[in-house]
Amino acid sequence: MRVLLVEDDDTIASPLQRGLAREGFSVDRQATGNGALESVRVGAAPEVILLDLGLPDIDGFELCRELRQLTDVPVIVVTARGDEVDRVVGLELGADDYVVKPFGLRELVARIRAVSRRSSNAPISNGSEDLDHDARLVVDRRTREVVVDGRDVALTPKEFDLLALLAEDPGAVCSRQRILDEVWDPHWYGPTKTLDVHVSSLRRKLGDPALVETIRGVGYRLQEGSAARHVVSR
Ligand code: CA
Repeated sequence: MRVLLVEDDDTIASPLQRGLAREGFSVDRQATGNGALESVRVGAAPEVILLDLGLPDIDGFELCRELRQLTDVPVIVVTARGDEVDRVVGLELGADDYVVKPFGLRELVARIRAVSRRSSNAPISNGSEDLDHDARLVVDRRTREVVVDGRDVALTPKEFDLLALLAEDPGAVCSRQRILDEVWDPHWYGPTKTLDVHVSSLRRKLGDPALVETIRGVGYRLQEGSAARHVVSR
């Protein structure tokens, strides 16, 4: 598996590169934001991008946004400070996960495998005949497109996975734990506040906050009778 490592600090990058190589990854290391953009534009496509936020030339948040415009490859943000994490999720950068320095190689490898598994295991749709054209909300797992009231809505990968999970059974309550397990991963030790941040940005993008209901103390569900439908995916 090809990993693009964007890290300016040699004392972090070198051991990481060796460790990842031992785990069977092929690592392309870039020390600058411009190098990373160039590599994504012209190099062999990586399967995962590890992105240090503190780079000498481009602000990490800006770089994440630019990478997201170039590619759908999962991005794992590497941050030195825990309090940057709120910005990572809050700014809707489209990052798929993050790790806070210092982190262990084993943890990082687990995160890499989890994000790449999720991006390559997108369920296969039976096809467009499943689309219900009368529905207010259409979630197409095959193309990862979302249409609300006839309007295309662009979601981050996590927002899409969250909505697709809720859309499996409109009206049924999905517990916070189940969402964290299925949309993040069972080894998620980050703040559960991440989920609330994603729900609020999802509501904002859907344009009708009532579509995603909060069931206090339990979790969330798609509004019953909202005519929400999803594409049967198995
Ligand atoms: Ca750095």
